[in-house]
Amino acid sequence: MKKPSHPTMAPDRPLVTVVIAMVVLLGLVLLATRPSGPMAHLDSETTSDESGEDASAREVPATGDPDELTVVDPDHVVGLDEAELAYDGDLDVAVRYPVLPNAQPLTDFLDRTLAASVDAFDAANPGAESYEAEWELTAANDDLVGVRVTSLETDSEGTRECHTTYWYDTASGQTFESTRLFGGQEELAEVNGLVKEGVPDTAYTDTIHPVAALYDSVGFNPDGDLVVEFDAGQVAAPDEGRVHAVVDREETGPLLSDLGARVRDASTVGVREFAIAGPPEAAKDGQDDPKPGHLSPVDEEVDCSDPGTKCVALTYDDGPGGGTPALLDTLAEYDARATFFVTGGPVMADPLTVRRAYAEGHEIANHTLGHPDLTGLSESGVRAELATVQAQIYRETGYTPDLMRPPYGATDETVASVTADMGLAQILWNIDTNDWKDRDAAVVKGRALNGASDGAIILMHDIHPTSVAASRGIIRELDARGYTMVTVSQLLGATEPGETYVDGVPAPPEDGPSPDGDDGHHGDE
Ligand code: ZN
Repeated sequence: MKKPSHPTMAPDRPLVTVVIAMVVLLGLVLLATRPSGPMAHLDSETTSDESGEDASAREVPATGDPDELTVVDPDHVVGLDEAELAYDGDLDVAVRYPVLPNAQPLTDFLDRTLAASVDAFDAANPGAESYEAEWELTAANDDLVGVRVTSLETDSEGTRECHTTYWYDTASGQTFESTRLFGGQEELAEVNGLVKEGVPDTAYTDTIHPVAALYDSVGFNPDGDLVVEFDAGQVAAPDEGRVHAVVDREETGPLLSDLGARVRDASTVGVREFAIAGPPEAAKDGQDDPKPGHLSPVDEEVDCSDPGTKCVALTYDDGPGGGTPALLDTLAEYDARATFFVTGGPVMADPLTVRRAYAEGHEIANHTLGHPDLTGLSESGVRAELATVQAQIYRETGYTPDLMRPPYGATDETVASVTADMGLAQILWNIDTNDWKDRDAAVVKGRALNGASDGAIILMHDIHPTSVAASRGIIRELDARGYTMVTVSQLLGATEPGETYVDGVPAPPEDGPSPDGDDGHHGDE
């Protein structure tokens, strides 16, 4: 008997083999369950067989890391494939996304959305180098599937890890961003309060606001607790990496939309097999549904065309600056709104203040990347100046501006045609405080108040401490005089891209002359 020993080992020594196998198996089970909790969960999942005709009726709980969104094993998704984003720009791009049978709208959405994300990163970062993205599935159950995208953005500053999670409803063919898991803006604001309590001490909690750009990766852990994750550098120092909060399911339950409750329930079920039965029925557009995290610069409760309402628009250019947070405090104190025409360099230096201004109801508008005289630039030069800032604001807030202000008020036909094409109205002013020249708070305050009238657009610069100091007095006095301080979009109503505006006398409600007799400004041109 000189045969190799291993083929004969099992028949000769069955008991030893079984014992060894059991020990190995037990070891594996222990290893697998140690970080993730009770063994019972894994047991019920691994011992389930195909004996039942309706296997889905015997649901097993999902398992996994309580600090993460539930992860679905791709092997359990029937017919799952992967696509790579086509890209022919200047960056090194490697972006992959899942392709599920019978989910063409999801494939189209991911292709379009990821391409837009790459373009926004490229446009917003002059030092952009590469963009990579991988994916995983979360909560694949009951007509829902979540796609969590992890991207690595590399620019001259280094590499940043970001997460975004999208939710697809297989029946309607709609894909939703993460804020749609909440009932509305109020509910998102409440979640925001709970999240601030749940993040580590190292997070800057005053930078956490209920806006779409922050709440773009939200889901549930296997227990159904809400998991919110923020990108590296978004709400804490970049070297902190991903910052996340887990909020107990009992606390968040009442704040969820119908979609959110369905997603939560799907996240708690272990997935043995997931398949989408057929293509979606009919994709409804869902335009009227609330979109939490997307704030309008227009307050529905203010009507500037009402003769009893005197509106004025405070506008601040070239920022944000060091005094902008104090200015925001003052505006909040008087429930006043302003419009910030931001410039690219300061946005890159202090994106958190831009996000705060947006979250507090102010309008964020475009004042170019490098503050050139646009009339000296080619069409592509004008476009590049504006596109960078559009992308920066979008990435920080989730909002794309409707308004721009040409530096020095200098505009021409090229600027008009590019802004028309980009959907941007050109906003000038009718009250110039000349605050850049006269760094004297009393002088600036006097000019602003002397010029103030219904429909006025007042020009200031929040990069000058004297202007921020003057603003305290201006805002207090305008409030005392009965003015409502509104955003430019509120003052002007609908604007025409490419058109130039210098003030906004509100249209009279009926035919005939304006009943309040204020006909000082007619410059809607
Ligand atoms: Zn300027």
